[in-house]
Amino acid sequence: MADTTVPSSAPGEAPSPASRPSTEPEAPPAPADAQQAAQWRQQFETAAAEDVLRWALDRFHPRIALACSFQAEDMVILDMMARLRPGARVFYLDTGLLFAETYAMRDLVARRYDIRLERFSPELSVARQAVEHGPNLWARDPNRCCTLRKVEPLRRALSGLDAWVTGIRRDQTPQRRSAGVVEWDARFGLVKINPLARWTADDVWRYIRSRGVPYNPLHDQGFPSIGCIPCTAPVPEGGDARSGRWPGFEKTECGLHADQ
Ligand code: SF4
Repeated sequence: MADTTVPSSAPGEAPSPASRPSTEPEAPPAPADAQQAAQWRQQFETAAAEDVLRWALDRFHPRIALACSFQAEDMVILDMMARLRPGARVFYLDTGLLFAETYAMRDLVARRYDIRLERFSPELSVARQAVEHGPNLWARDPNRCCTLRKVEPLRRALSGLDAWVTGIRRDQTPQRRSAGVVEWDARFGLVKINPLARWTADDVWRYIRSRGVPYNPLHDQGFPSIGCIPCTAPVPEGGDARSGRWPGFEKTECGLHADQ
């Protein structure tokens, strides 16, 4: 049973109206648009992450899903979603190049949480990609590799959804600084929910430790951010958390959240 004594909001967030009941919509609401998303962005800017998720699940489920890479932020959101809405939808992009520890997290999540976990993979296997585009594409053209192995599967994952949920935080990269808690994703044409946009890394780890949420053990081995094996390196203590992604390249985003 969930420990409801643990706060679900980060410092600075509005208090959680824990007693407010979830309400099911009487009829499927019409898909949202950019104008409506802009209103929600203002409305939820200071709301607690759990309240944002509660509203989003009430409004969009089952046409909403969490994009999960099994990193710390995603585990916080997944933990909240599973409590708020058993059977909530979660998808992951299986590039075929993930760490063994990440696949182990996937298996643990599937056993422990009452969620609907969906896998999306690239059209090309890693071996087929090497035949068609040359070996180690990630070392020569990581943008192309991410388009093939992440963005295209994401596009398929988002088709049929009205909203997706992500674990991005504003302080992760300069591109994420302007992320709204709720925003319109013009690139993919649906609402994007970033419940942890205002959280810090400390907020994330406070939640994980206070609630005993499982996390990828690579985080304890110098990997603050975890992606594909060829493009993820450990970061020295106190270093920029994203500097371990695509080391040697200017690239800081895989193309899921910002134009490359
Ligand atoms: S993170 Fe690296 S290996 Fe993974 S899809 Fe992007 S370029 Fe390819």
